[in-house]
Amino acid sequence: METCDALIVGGGPAGSSCAWKLRGHGMAVTVLDKALFPRSKVCAGWITPAGVQMLQLDAEAYARERVLQPITAFRTGLIHGRELETRYPSAVSFGIRRCEFDDYLLRRSGARTRLGVALKSVEKRGTLWVVNGTIATPLLIGAGGHFCPVARLLGAKLGAGETAVTAKEIEFEMNPAQRADCRVHADTPELYFCRDFKGYGWCFRKGNYLNVGLGREGNQGLAEHLGDFCDFLTRRGKIPGNIPDRFHGHAYLQYGQSRRTLLDDGVLLLGDAAGLAYPESGEGIRPAIESGLIAAAAIVEAGEDYRRQSLQVYPDRLRARFGSEASPAAAATVPGYVRNLLAGALLGSRWFTRRVVLDRWFLHRQLPALQ
Ligand SMILES: Cc1cc2nc3c(=O)[nH]c(=O)nc-3n(C[C@H](O)[C@H](O)[C@H](O)COP(=O)(O)OP(=O)(O)OC[C@H]3O[C@@H](n4cnc5c(N)ncnc54)[C@H](O)[C@@H]3O)c2cc1C
Repeated sequence: METCDALIVGGGPAGSSCAWKLRGHGMAVTVLDKALFPRSKVCAGWITPAGVQMLQLDAEAYARERVLQPITAFRTGLIHGRELETRYPSAVSFGIRRCEFDDYLLRRSGARTRLGVALKSVEKRGTLWVVNGTIATPLLIGAGGHFCPVARLLGAKLGAGETAVTAKEIEFEMNPAQRADCRVHADTPELYFCRDFKGYGWCFRKGNYLNVGLGREGNQGLAEHLGDFCDFLTRRGKIPGNIPDRFHGHAYLQYGQSRRTLLDDGVLLLGDAAGLAYPESGEGIRPAIESGLIAAAAIVEAGEDYRRQSLQVYPDRLRARFGSEASPAAAATVPGYVRNLLAGALLGSRWFTRRVVLDRWFLHRQLPALQ
């Protein structure tokens, strides 16, 4: 039987950030992931500078062999509506490719990895968890994303009884003709909201790669909204007409709308498994990293006492960081016809777009990186 101080299920940004910190404190950490890395992940691949800072990423070294696209402007508006461009004097975000970013972070974490191995079974033997009958650990960390099996162990009804955002996306390398036809600038991602404010689409160029997608609350009419969005982008000449038709879907819970239990004796959840994505933008990489780092600090402080009461500082600090309880999204409490009128007016305002939509909802400039 293999043993480790902590077993992390899922090697995405949540799992690898936690592993990296725990390894820094000398703990023996194993990361189990059902995928072989590098693996792709359905994601626009947009990270904010706070994420780069918290990960202590050497941007220059990273960018030498991977895509790290600085973002200095945005084009925004309603789908089929007027467009506004908002520029910043320096980079306010970066575009990465998840296949590169996640692989880099997982390798750098220094954890032992078990890749291409899904979590199949978990048994409790005394104070130890035995996973897949082969790995024993006193601490099981669920970082397996939205459908994390450890969340199920803690009672989550995955895919049922939870209101998730569902999204579809494609990322592909453009051929020379497509590159010539694509009017999206690499430093200026484009974001267009649905009229009911219940979702938005994006078009994001990273070097020779183009990432196009749309996400909405619930899963009603996603394909129609996506089709309409792609028509809109094509008609405005933003994307080539012949982009591949291989969109991939995924889902996430917005922070404050998730009712998942995050902690029990010897087990806790991180990142998307815990439902931490920012509700306004769906940004989930930063919360995933923060939860990994906050959990690691709580684990180290707990010594080797992993009972729920010793680890309770973890959910307490998450709440202090992200805010306490769900307030229903403002959009949900406003009647549809008012929302449509408001959406047009607000997204036509340069002040609202810069100060609220971009600075607060998408960039979280008011929230400094975790110390
Ligand atoms: C379409 C879309 C676009 C997005 N764009 C952005 C964006 O631009 N910026 C941003 O900040 N956020 C974005 N997000 C959110 C972001 O992708 C997630 O919040 C983030 O990936 C969460 O990280 P994580 O480590 O918690 O989980 P994940 O990155 O999902 O990693 C989970 C890992 O667990 C593994 N796993 C799952 N099940 C098992 C199992 N049974 N056994 C073993 N391993 C398992 C998976 O293989 C995976 O490697 C987007 C989400 C979607 C759906």
